[in-house]
Amino acid sequence: MNSKHIIVIGSGFAGLSAACVLAKEGFKVTILEKNDQPGGRARAWEQDGFRFDMGPSWYWMPDVFENFFALFGKKTSDYYRLKRLDPGYRVYYSKNEIFDVPADMVELEALFEQAEPGSSKALRDFLNQAAYKYKVGMGEYVFRPSHSITEFIDFNLIKKSFSMQLLTSMSSHVRKYFKNPQLIKLLEFPVLFLGATPQNTPAMYSMMNYADLALGTWYPMGGMNEIVKAMVSMAIELGVEIKLNTEVTKINIQDKQVDKIQTNNGVFTADMVIAGADYQHVDQHLIEKPYRNYTTKYWNSRTMSPSSLLFYIGTNKKVPNIQHHNLFFDEDFELHAKEIYTAPQWPSSPLFYVCCSSKTDSTVAPESGENLFFLMPIAPGLNDDETIREKYFTLMMDRFAQITGHDIRDSIVVKRSYALNDFKVDYHSFKGNAYGLANTLAQTAFFKPAMQAKHINNLLYTGQLTVPGPGVPPAIISGQVVAKEAMKKLAY
Ligand SMILES: Cc1cc2nc3c(=O)[nH]c(=O)nc-3n(C[C@H](O)[C@H](O)[C@H](O)COP(=O)(O)OP(=O)(O)OC[C@H]3O[C@@H](n4cnc5c(N)ncnc54)[C@H](O)[C@@H]3O)c2cc1C
Repeated sequence: MNSKHIIVIGSGFAGLSAACVLAKEGFKVTILEKNDQPGGRARAWEQDGFRFDMGPSWYWMPDVFENFFALFGKKTSDYYRLKRLDPGYRVYYSKNEIFDVPADMVELEALFEQAEPGSSKALRDFLNQAAYKYKVGMGEYVFRPSHSITEFIDFNLIKKSFSMQLLTSMSSHVRKYFKNPQLIKLLEFPVLFLGATPQNTPAMYSMMNYADLALGTWYPMGGMNEIVKAMVSMAIELGVEIKLNTEVTKINIQDKQVDKIQTNNGVFTADMVIAGADYQHVDQHLIEKPYRNYTTKYWNSRTMSPSSLLFYIGTNKKVPNIQHHNLFFDEDFELHAKEIYTAPQWPSSPLFYVCCSSKTDSTVAPESGENLFFLMPIAPGLNDDETIREKYFTLMMDRFAQITGHDIRDSIVVKRSYALNDFKVDYHSFKGNAYGLANTLAQTAFFKPAMQAKHINNLLYTGQLTVPGPGVPPAIISGQVVAKEAMKKLAY
């Protein structure tokens, strides 16, 4: 056992990942978590026999999870059972235009060919390039702490960077290969996970199409919260102490070192602190001005990822005619994107997403019912109240009924809304963002808020607002990268 004590603030994927890696190296690790359950944005909520994943629902990049557990001599199957979804998901372009995206590549090519003759060859070329980007991106880029540009000054990497199309947008990249508007929407959709528009996202991120269409959409039986449970039980096996209901209220600095961590549950000291709570909250609200990494102006000028209006819905009847994942792309994507990014406002005709995990997993809802999760992306920083939430509830229910042919309103037995104000209260989320900071080119790698505290020697940041970015796999990687940085610092 190393005598050094490390405190991790926040038990999201990034905090849990960092804690596990450091505990395995023999450090004494304590996680301080404000909420009454671990997992951060991936918490679960149970009500009347329904168990809802509160945040993430898409399990992509299974290799990242497998590689993480392998660090500890484990496999994901030691903790949860994965199922590949087939179809991976359904896209509704209109009542009569429905794409079920198959897991099988031959079937996928046939779907493309049907929509646009000749496009199966284009898909193969597009995905070959995306596979290369995934290999280079996941192998060479995401594990860099990105302290400065110098980490990327390496002839081979620069050569590879050109082939990664950093300066081309996803939007024009996709249009070089495909003309059919439905195929274009299908291929642009995964970048929404990165919190930015296809026009603002570098074409490097077509690696997400490889993750989507080649690596596939998976589901951990029991729900996404099973990943949290797995990481928590591994952390505990490794000796990590997790203190729930413990909110950090101030980080005291003395001689450029964290001196004390004040919480609502006592005062803590540590040799090293890793902040896995929302970066802006820690930087602007827990640390005195002279020690902050950034100014208020800096934070206000960042492009945050969208927030979301969510409804967790339990029904007492089955809902036919939908899949596990359902994208309602029957409205103008450009207008919705504009109302999220360039002219932030509650959207006029939003796209939305419905998850029905009970289609795959009978344990998440009573036998006769369904577990549904409605998600509508919205701009961060909007005003939020019950009236506006209900307005959009009605809008989504109407559209759902019109497109699927099933009005579920009469069968709803559990209903809970969740939006901007909840993100702020529950996670200290800046402007109520759901997924952190957008992955635009100007906010990629060393342009992201830095992992390292510039004026404090023993504080590091991790999580979806720093490198490599938003999403469950990146958050897990972020924890691995920050743990390495902490070890380097503690070696001195
Ligand atoms: C609705 C929604 C849907 C999503 N869908 C997907 C998806 O399908 N697939 C995917 O890969 N990703 C998805 N994401 C993104 C993904 O969930 C996040 O990127 C990831 O979970 C972030 O992990 P994190 O550790 O960085 O942050 P968090 O999970 O936010 O963890 C931070 C933790 O810090 C705690 N904390 C905050 N302040 C303090 C304090 N002062 N003291 C102590 N603790 C504090 C918080 O309570 C929280 O537990 C989704 C997110 C949301 C919200």
